[in-house]
Amino acid sequence: MVDLKSQYQKIKPEVDKAILNVIEAAQFINGPEVKAFQKDLEEYLDVKYVIPCANGTDALQIALMAAGLKPGDEVITPSFTYVATTEVIALLGLTPVFVDVDKDTFCLDTDQVKALITSKTKAIVPVHLYGQSANMEAVMEIANEYNLTVIEDNAQAIGSDYHFPDGNKKTGTIGHIGCTSFFPSKNLGCYGDGGAMFTNDEVLAGKMRMIANHGQSKKYYHDVVGCNSRLDSIQAAVLKIKLKELDNYIEARRAVASHYDNFFDKFEGVKTPVRANNSRHVFHQYTLTLEGIDRDGLNAFLAEKNIPSMIYYPVPAHRQKMFSAFNSKESNLPITDWLCERVLSLPIHTEMTKEQLDFICSGVAEFLSTKQ
Ligand SMILES: *Cc1c(COP(=O)(O)O)cnc(C)c1O
Repeated sequence: MVDLKSQYQKIKPEVDKAILNVIEAAQFINGPEVKAFQKDLEEYLDVKYVIPCANGTDALQIALMAAGLKPGDEVITPSFTYVATTEVIALLGLTPVFVDVDKDTFCLDTDQVKALITSKTKAIVPVHLYGQSANMEAVMEIANEYNLTVIEDNAQAIGSDYHFPDGNKKTGTIGHIGCTSFFPSKNLGCYGDGGAMFTNDEVLAGKMRMIANHGQSKKYYHDVVGCNSRLDSIQAAVLKIKLKELDNYIEARRAVASHYDNFFDKFEGVKTPVRANNSRHVFHQYTLTLEGIDRDGLNAFLAEKNIPSMIYYPVPAHRQKMFSAFNSKESNLPITDWLCERVLSLPIHTEMTKEQLDFICSGVAEFLSTKQ
């Protein structure tokens, strides 16, 4: 699905040198690389505070903790997402309230949010799934009206823009807090685990920094219960180099997506990703929706030809055993259920060649013309 080896080859001299520098300086934790990367990312995102942490799941957890939510508070979030988003909500004793998604953008259906709001609702966690922004204008309008905290799960969309009538903003900087992951296969990935929170709010920034460091206000004085979540210096050194390439990486992904679009548009029953006009898609995934086509058959057929394809996600959160205590199966999320049976993601990365694309496209075409 990704080709991190070829990507590394192109930046190898710079990366190798940066990693060696960290090893020689032996400041593996909180080295100057962490601060330097943090500054660069703040500038890239045009956000006041970036707080690095250990991974994207921690970022979401720390954000929810900083928002001051109490056990029993309700958090509205899509069920059609990676498990991390919903898991941390439950882990903190909060109640996930699942909202259905929009068939075209795969992101939460903002028209359905208001009906789910109760006196216990405290936050909304929109997920910019596959690299395209949720309808943040609508999310922020609802949040302002009901005084809710918005925590954006930006793990799949770093670098994406949302177009407001008065200008663009980077996803992850629109809500009160944005969270991201630097997992190797993400659009901005390191060579291990990593994550970060973003905010323009000084108070929230201070709280998140403190929570990520054992709730410590000064050395050995701990004001709140926190956790231990930090980005190590080697990962920060790698990220600083890769951040300079992020816009090129995004363009490369968008070019792959256009190639697929052109090829698949002619096939009946194959719906290519819809590009919403209020955001710039950064194509973390290229996901087809297959109607009247044996999706699992195609998945298996491609695997036989050594063409990877993935189902993100076969089981939505509300049908996971982990949430059975919330009676979440009773949630009425027809679009989420429908999509889980029909989506298929094809390989997409920064180093794809025309030959690879042609091979993948012809594999899918062969299935569509002979096996259906
Ligand atoms: C990857 C991902 C996460 C979690 O990130 P980790 O760094 O793996 O903990 C959270 N939400 C979404 C939508 C993701 O894709």
